[in-house]
Amino acid sequence: MVAFPRDQADRCVLCGLCLPSCPTYLKTEDENESPRGRIALMRAMASNEIPVNAKLQAHLDLCLACRACENVCPSLVEYGALIEAGHALLTSRHHKPTLPRLLGSFALSYLVERPRNLRALARLLRLYQRSGLQRLVRATGGLGFTGLARLDAALPRLAPQKHWRTVYPALGAMRSRVALFTGCVGGVADRETLRSAIGVLNLLGYEVRVPPEQTCCGALHLHAGYGEQAHTLMRGNLAAFAKDAESGDGGRVIVHTASGCGATLAEYPRHLPAEPGANTFAGRLADISQFISQAPWPEGLAVEPLPMTVAVHEPCSLRNVLHAEKWPYALLARIPEIHLVPLADNHLCCGGAGAYPLTQPAMAKSLLADKLGHLQRLDPDLVVSANIGCALHLATGLARERPTIEVIHPVTLLRRQLRPGA
Ligand code: SF4
Ligand code: SF4
Repeated sequence: MVAFPRDQADRCVLCGLCLPSCPTYLKTEDENESPRGRIALMRAMASNEIPVNAKLQAHLDLCLACRACENVCPSLVEYGALIEAGHALLTSRHHKPTLPRLLGSFALSYLVERPRNLRALARLLRLYQRSGLQRLVRATGGLGFTGLARLDAALPRLAPQKHWRTVYPALGAMRSRVALFTGCVGGVADRETLRSAIGVLNLLGYEVRVPPEQTCCGALHLHAGYGEQAHTLMRGNLAAFAKDAESGDGGRVIVHTASGCGATLAEYPRHLPAEPGANTFAGRLADISQFISQAPWPEGLAVEPLPMTVAVHEPCSLRNVLHAEKWPYALLARIPEIHLVPLADNHLCCGGAGAYPLTQPAMAKSLLADKLGHLQRLDPDLVVSANIGCALHLATGLARERPTIEVIHPVTLLRRQLRPGA
């Protein structure tokens, strides 16, 4: 059972400075949908002063866990720890599990925790896309306006689901080795980003190792209130990456590409304070944009100019947890003639937080509409985002209004412009 961090709740002095940063409060103007309102609700729930009912659950479920509030809080309230514990309390005390919760729990246990099942599902979905069935279903509206229709709309074009090799050798003289964290959903739905990361790292002289025993980072379980299961996944990753370090030169960097996963990986010491390897693991982590921006650049590796306007979306996990939002700009600044423009209101969540577009479709759609409005005014040639969940959410919206605008990871854009041996 995850303990409720009462000391964190008590730090809130109700100043309200977080309110203008909270996307759900800005939309609803309801104190129960604000950070301080939710903190008060969670404190009262933990002390058994209020009952656990559907109304309470709705207020907590509408929270995006974007942690914009944490970023501006003068009392340094760790809101992320509070909302995770709040969800865990809700899950442990919930008397009547709803159908969405049962389906969510099934997906976590049988897909997210089991990469083999996830890959098998991805193969089936790829068949569904390539056979023309998806086109037919969409043309006839066969899925109606159900959750399945939302899933279908968010489904990216899936690539062949080959196993990742354990080693991708450096091209030319080897500088060093790095380990790559692939993630669960990213490993099947965002293979282009992972392939691009491997490609760029190899060109820069890094051998890339992909520990096969690695598993999901635990973020989806944490947000759904399954803390114990998340901790089991975390221990699995600690063991997988410790084993990998022992098998080579030891102590090598672990690169992650999705900032949502990176934010959870970085907080393993908070989740597993008694686990001896958690601090070492966290100390080895590096965001791909930061790592490549700071890596020495080999002679003869040219970058093709790109005279385009590129909108940069800054995921909440990159801004509010990793505090690494400057690195995609640094990475892409290597491309001559590129015009990088931060997307307006980057401090406000796009609504693509994990499973949020499926569980809270109305709010997710409303937040997405704001981003699409900004994109309409900016009229970029391309959008980059360092988190798969946000990229899929933005791409789903753009597919309806501006299907020619791609949303890709910054490292994919860099990979496309590299000209080895030029
Ligand atoms: S800014 Fe911090 S202390 Fe102030 S109300 Fe928000 S959470 Fe509480
Ligand atoms: S995490 Fe985001 S949505 Fe939740 S209370 Fe904080 S700012 Fe609001």
